[in-house]
Formats: sequence, C-alpha cells, structure tokens
Amino acid sequence: MKNTKPYGNIDGVSELCDSCLQDEFVHLTGRTLKFVVDNMSLAYVFLDNDVRLLKCNQATIDLFGIDKDKLDKTQLFLDFSPEYQPDGGLSREKANKLIAQVHNEGKITFEWIHINVSGEEIPTETVLTRVKWQDGFGLVAFIRDMREINKIQETERSTIQRLMARLMAMLDSSPLACTIVDENLNVLDVTQEMANLLGLPDKKVYLERQMELSPQYQPDGKLSYDKMIEKLKSAFITGKEHFEWMYNTLDGTMVPCEVFLTRVELDGHNFITVYRRDLRELKSTMDLMEKLEELAFSDALTKLSTRHYFLDAAEQELRKCIDEGQSFHLLMIDIDFFKRINDTYGHPVGDEVLKILSARMRRATKRNTLIARYGGEEFIVMLSRMDINIAEKIAWRIQQSAEVYKFGTEVHKIPVTVSIGLASCKGQGDTLADIIKRADYAMYEAKASGRNTVKLSVNCDK
Ligand code: GH3
Ligand code: MG
Ligand code: MG
Repeated sequence: MKNTKPYGNIDGVSELCDSCLQDEFVHLTGRTLKFVVDNMSLAYVFLDNDVRLLKCNQATIDLFGIDKDKLDKTQLFLDFSPEYQPDGGLSREKANKLIAQVHNEGKITFEWIHINVSGEEIPTETVLTRVKWQDGFGLVAFIRDMREINKIQETERSTIQRLMARLMAMLDSSPLACTIVDENLNVLDVTQEMANLLGLPDKKVYLERQMELSPQYQPDGKLSYDKMIEKLKSAFITGKEHFEWMYNTLDGTMVPCEVFLTRVELDGHNFITVYRRDLRELKSTMDLMEKLEELAFSDALTKLSTRHYFLDAAEQELRKCIDEGQSFHLLMIDIDFFKRINDTYGHPVGDEVLKILSARMRRATKRNTLIARYGGEEFIVMLSRMDINIAEKIAWRIQQSAEVYKFGTEVHKIPVTVSIGLASCKGQGDTLADIIKRADYAMYEAKASGRNTVKLSVNCDK
C-alpha cells in the first residue's frame, strides 16, 4: 500500500512529526527537517520493515562508502557489518534481536561495529526508533561514528598523561607523600614517598590496594570513603582542603596524618594534589626540638639553666627591674671543698652531689626561680622583685638545705656545705656584670670567714 500523505517522500523523518499537525505546516516542517537531516554530519538511515535501506543522508553514504545505485538493495546490518560483534555474537543474530527489541520498546540505543566498503571497522553508537510506515513500521537510525569521539578521548587521555608526567616529575623530586586525583576522583599517580609513608615496597602496591590503607571509619566517626569523597569534591570547588586522616599500613599500624588538598589547573584540566604530613614524624621532631632546646638552655647534669641562658634572661629582667624601680638580687653559691669530695669518693659521686644539691636549691626557692650552673661547682640564683631580707632568707635556706641533710649516695653519707655571696642592684647604671662581681666577692668573703655561710656584698670589707 502506497503512502498517501503529501510529505511521504520525506519518508520516516516526516513520520516523526505527528499527523495531527495541519498539512501545509507539516509539509513545511517536513521539508525543513529533510534539509537538516540531509546536511547534518550524523548518519541518518531509514529502514523498511525488512531492514532494507530505503533512505539515507550524505553522511551515511560517506561513512560506509555505499554505492548510491545499490541503495535499495543494501541491508545495512548485514552488508556493512563484520560477521561477529566484539562480544563474540553473530552480527546477524544480534541485529535480529535488536530489531525485535526496538519493535517492542519503540526506541533503543546500542553500540555496533560496522565495516565500510573497504572493510575498515567503524565503531558506532546507534539510536534506533520505530516509526509508523505505510501499513506497518519502519525504523529510523541515527548512527554516530565513534572514531572521532574515541580519537578525542584518546587525545584527552594522552594530554592528561603528559600533564601528569609534568606534575609527577615536580612532585617526585620533592620528599612529599603525594597522590594526584582527577575530576572523576580517580587516583592517577602517587609518589614513592607515599608508599614509604605506609611501609609499602613500591607505589604500584598503593594504587592496587589503596582501599585497604585506611580503616573503615575515621576517628571522627565518618566512613573513610564518604569523608574522602566529600573533601575531594569540596577541594575541586573551593581550591583547598585541610584535615586529619588516619591511615593503616598493611600490617595494621595506624599512621595519623595531616592532609592538604590543593586544586591544580594544568592546561585547562583540574587535578587535586593530596599531600600528607606524618603526624608521628611531627611528634618526634617536636620531641627532638624540645631536647635541643633543653640542651641549649639547661645543663645536662643538673637540669638547671646554663650560664649563657642565665646571663641573657637575667640581663632582661635587670633592665625591667631598673625601669620599674624594682629590686634585683643575685646569689653566687660555691660548694666547699668540693675537690676533696671528688678525691675521696670519686668523680661520679661528686656528680651525684651536684645533682642532689641542684634539686635541693630548686625546692628552697619558688617555682620558676632562675637558677643556673655557673661553673663546675658554682651556681647562681636570680631573686628579683623582693625585699633584700627575703633574698637573704632564701640564701640561708639554701645553705641549710645543703648542711642539714647529708648527701646520701648509694654507699656514702657525705657532709656537704656551701658558701654564698649575695649582691643587689644599686640602681640606674648598675650592670649585671657589676652585680655578679660583687656577689662573687661576697662569696669569697664567706669562704674566707670559714665557709658554710652567707655574706652580703654590702657588708663586705671592700
Ligand atoms: P673551695 O671550698 O675553695 O671552693 O674548694 P673546692 O675544692 O670546692 O674548690 P676548687 O676550685 O679547688 O675545686 C673545684 C673542683 O670541682 C675541681 C673540679 O674537679 C670539680 N668539678 C668541677 N666540675 C665538676 C663536675 O662536673 N663533676 C665533678 N665530680 N667535679 C667537678
Ligand atoms: Mg669553685
Ligand atoms: Mg668550691
């Protein structure tokens, strides 16, 4: 039966416009559509009930190299398909199934490998639609040549690989535990340092087993997977993210880290670089720094301040006290006959005495009192912002703390005494060196007067 509609020669395309439209309008619409379809780069095909090619546009002829004269004898799925599709199915059987499916469902989209006249494979994506045609149905197919798209994707992939290589070269030269993540949230690459951080032999193992390298839940109670996705998405928007993260190595060791996400744009592509700082490392660095500080500021044997630290700190306090009209005193303390202690009991016992005396001086003074080991068995104490009588009392307390309790080492009970000189700031123009000199002098006066005593520089002969 012949198609009686005036726009019948536009075949299936005009069938797509519903016949409820007015004839004149439909005629015009049909012609416009035909023009568009004929000139578009997408292959358009109209097949009859027996899947014979009835109409097609120029793009189809070009794509397959169809002989125009043999158009009506062409069976697209048979003549321009290889015997088998990539999944191993026979093209003929698969085509029959698809046609049955489109008759059922009205419209389907599928991938199909065609071959052109020269036998060249053409991967395609086809949208097949069932349309009313004469008494039954015809099929309209729009066929997209995927080679172009694949080529674009391939170029895209190689561009990304090139960019990645640039990024990685940059990151690999730094000792950073880094990964690079693309916009699909896939980890693209990882530095060797990242593998080292988690005790992995090489970075391939990280890429293969990354899901196993975080516990299921983070310490904040969030699912690791959800938290990472949330942070990555946010970093793509805001450019930066910073948070704490717990990793676990394959042998179960927890590795607390600080994580920094930074969005990097390279030639129009966005990536996130993920940099981790091992918080265990930070902790041991801080411990080390504390130790170095202690070494610099405190004496290894007695744990009192060093002479150098004392001079700096006392100088500052003296300036403040002079400015504020506050008093400032120093005690110079020397152990009596210390050489004899060493000679009698041995040097290690002498060391023990130095330690014990230091601890006793700490107890005899207020917390935070600046006490330093000034020399071998000489100590210096700063007593500021207090009356001279109080300073003198503290000096006697130190003298007592040495004298009253013998120094018990493991095998000996040793009597130890100290001689102490006390000097005070005389006001504007007085320097720390002057006060130290006077305290030292007073201390020697204490020695001269029989030792085991306190002398004030104001009471000294000179
Ligand atoms: P005086 O009452 O006059 O101060 O007599 P003294 O023996 O205490 O004085 P002297 O200056 O003759 O001797 C100080 C000794 O302190 C000499 C030195 O071997 C000893 N000494 C210095 N530093 C240390 C130390 O770190 N450990 C020990 N065990 N002895 C030390
Ligand atoms: Mg001495
Ligand atoms: Mg001495």
